Amino acid sequence: MVSSIGRKRVVIIGGGIAGSVLAKSLQDHTDVYLIDPKEYFEISWASLRCIVEPAFAERTLINHSEYAPNAHIITSAATSITETEVTTANGRVISYDYLVIASGHDDKSEFTKKERIHHYKQDQQKIKSASSILIVGGGPVGVELAGEISVDFPDKKVTLVHRGSRLLEFVGEKASKKAHKWLNKKNVEIILEQSVNLNSKTNGVYHTSGGQSIIADCHFLCVGKPIASSWLKDTMLHNCLDNKGRLMVDENMRVKGYRNIFAVGDITDVKEMKQGYLAQMHSGVVAKSIKSLVNGKEKLEAYKGGPQMAIVSLGRKEAVAQISSMTMSGCLPGKMKSGDLFVSKTRKTLGVKST
Ligand SMILES: Cc1cc2nc3c(=O)[nH]c(=O)nc-3n(C[C@H](O)[C@H](O)[C@H](O)COP(=O)(O)OP(=O)(O)OC[C@H]3O[C@@H](n4cnc5c(N)ncnc54)[C@H](O)[C@@H]3O)c2cc1C
Repeated sequence: MVSSIGRKRVVIIGGGIAGSVLAKSLQDHTDVYLIDPKEYFEISWASLRCIVEPAFAERTLINHSEYAPNAHIITSAATSITETEVTTANGRVISYDYLVIASGHDDKSEFTKKERIHHYKQDQQKIKSASSILIVGGGPVGVELAGEISVDFPDKKVTLVHRGSRLLEFVGEKASKKAHKWLNKKNVEIILEQSVNLNSKTNGVYHTSGGQSIIADCHFLCVGKPIASSWLKDTMLHNCLDNKGRLMVDENMRVKGYRNIFAVGDITDVKEMKQGYLAQMHSGVVAKSIKSLVNGKEKLEAYKGGPQMAIVSLGRKEAVAQISSMTMSGCLPGKMKSGDLFVSKTRKTLGVKST
């Protein structure tokens, strides 16, 4: 840890991709405090592969201290803020010159890497010992998990139940249809416009809202995680949350009405797809601004937006992609994402060994 005397203090709340990239980039310029409830950063878009192949998690979980050795890591959740300080669940009160909120989505993951890997091993065991599996939720998490299981465990009977009228509602209909067709080809049964009461399971049978019975040995709940902003509702920032609970930011990614409080990543109300590569662009913009501010310059960077692109992997080799208004599926988008799931690229961004 380098000496922090005389440096401006930046407190970053949240150690997802947005907060981690920012902490890495500011740690040698300012006195950085990174607050996250876990000891590690997880490459979240690679987590479904870890369920079918727990060893993959050795590369997708990176301790915060590994990529940000010069930052102070506070392993706890932020619970409150004032104009000068942040309070955490473990009773720390940390003052700041600049605050960056990057709390993205609520994450109830395990505290250590070891515990997280153990969880993945249990999930894999659950799949191995089942002959039929129910996946609840047809957003990116449910679709990617169905893809992983159907490719790695083709003998398992997979049923996916989704409340919406089509899979992957965050992309266009063409991409939804391509994913639907691909899963059907892999014998995944898809039930739309129904929900499952998971407590209603009797003798290995789950019941849907539409009266259907699904025989499954186990289930995975794959519904999206809520935005992690409920803790802000009793703070001075309650007026800065939009009706979806996102923080309203200006073109410099500053929380509206505040000069020294920024927000980055999925927690922000920027009108764009919520994607990790865009979260990293937010962090790049804020890093430049804070470096300039601590050097006494008032020059702030503006966020101009990035390409609108989403790739949903379908097992290890294929994917469906929407790039602007173009949709494609198969091995070409699969080559872009599905083999390594951007793990090497992300590790490189964070400056950790690619092994
Ligand atoms: C299945 C799936 C596939 C995806 N594929 C891609 C892809 O291919 N490419 C891509 O670019 N994006 C992809 N995404 C989107 C990407 O995962 C998100 O956009 C990205 O993770 C957002 O990063 P974030 O740092 O803003 O938030 P998060 O990743 O949600 O991180 C937030 C962090 O803040 C912490 N936190 C929460 N509350 C508090 C608190 N009170 N105090 C302190 N810390 C807190 C959390 O524990 C977490 O560590 C995918 C998403 C899913 C679900």
